[in-house]
Amino acid sequence: MKSAADCLRAIREYSGPPLRFMEVCGTHTDSIFRSGLRDVLPETIRLISGPGCPVCVTPGGYIGAACRLSREDNNVLCTFGDMMRVPGTAGSLAEARAQGGRVRIVYSPMEVLDLAEKAPDLTFYMTAVGFETTLPIYALMLEEMCRRNIKNVRFLTAVKAILPALRWICAGGHAIDGFIGPGHVSAIIGADAYREISGDFGVPVAVAGFEYEHLAAALWDLVNQCRAGSAAVHNLYPNVVTPSGNTAALTLIDKYFVKADTAWRGLGVIEGSGYVLRPAFAEYSAGDWDADSDISEPPGCLCGSVIIGASAPTDCPFFGTRCTPLDPVGPCMVSAEGACGIYYRNRERL
Ligand code: SF4
Repeated sequence: MKSAADCLRAIREYSGPPLRFMEVCGTHTDSIFRSGLRDVLPETIRLISGPGCPVCVTPGGYIGAACRLSREDNNVLCTFGDMMRVPGTAGSLAEARAQGGRVRIVYSPMEVLDLAEKAPDLTFYMTAVGFETTLPIYALMLEEMCRRNIKNVRFLTAVKAILPALRWICAGGHAIDGFIGPGHVSAIIGADAYREISGDFGVPVAVAGFEYEHLAAALWDLVNQCRAGSAAVHNLYPNVVTPSGNTAALTLIDKYFVKADTAWRGLGVIEGSGYVLRPAFAEYSAGDWDADSDISEPPGCLCGSVIIGASAPTDCPFFGTRCTPLDPVGPCMVSAEGACGIYYRNRERL
């Protein structure tokens, strides 16, 4: 494999038509900024952020349902800290807690099971968001709940599948010349899963890790593929990502979850793009919040457009003025993986 310096030299020599590559995952966006890679790319190569921030793609209706559950008697709403300030249809979970809702931040989903065992009169609702990377953890929770006969935990599920979102972007004519495949999700679903994207839409995919040299190699690969008119899936993270993914994790996921239509913030309902509990485990479900889904943004916020790479965070008039990490208007400024927050933290490089 070429060194990072050689990859960059080859990329900088590129003089063909402009290319737009999407880094699907927010962690890649962060690594690209932190490594300074953006600063040394030629003007003909543009990097755009994709829909891989789980908090950003979770609709306001879901947050609204979580807030409501937290206010009901004998309920405790458990969540990770990054969900607390995401704006929903009726405020955020932080506001719900300030108004008396029982919202508890957990650091590990397994913590919820210990809490539930100690307080059998309460029902603990777990916010289950994320992509295929997080799903095995929820499946493990269910495995453990069944083993320990814990009956007072429910999942409010909004877990997403990444491939339908990429299909949605390609089918919508958003002119993406290549995808940097997300390393973490790919470790679960496998590199071969992207063949449907490259095959159906003629868009190359380079699955990459998170270091500077991984990303430089992925960009060089995509430039090379575009120059050659190729649209293949290349796995440049073979130490972690296999062609068929993590079969043990996929089997566990399949035991408890099934694909279903679900709503994405800004994108709407995408067929088969979410995971819900199988009917055999319906007793652990917090119910269907999609019926209540509001996919709109707070007035003036461009998150829906940022999520699909149609707008850059800096296109938003609120960026860095009305909307900052301390006082966010939209979810893309709240989450560590959100494009707006990452751009804001690196604003001196823009
Ligand atoms: Fe939304 Fe704030 Fe990003 Fe604008 S800067 S798109 S308001 S999160």
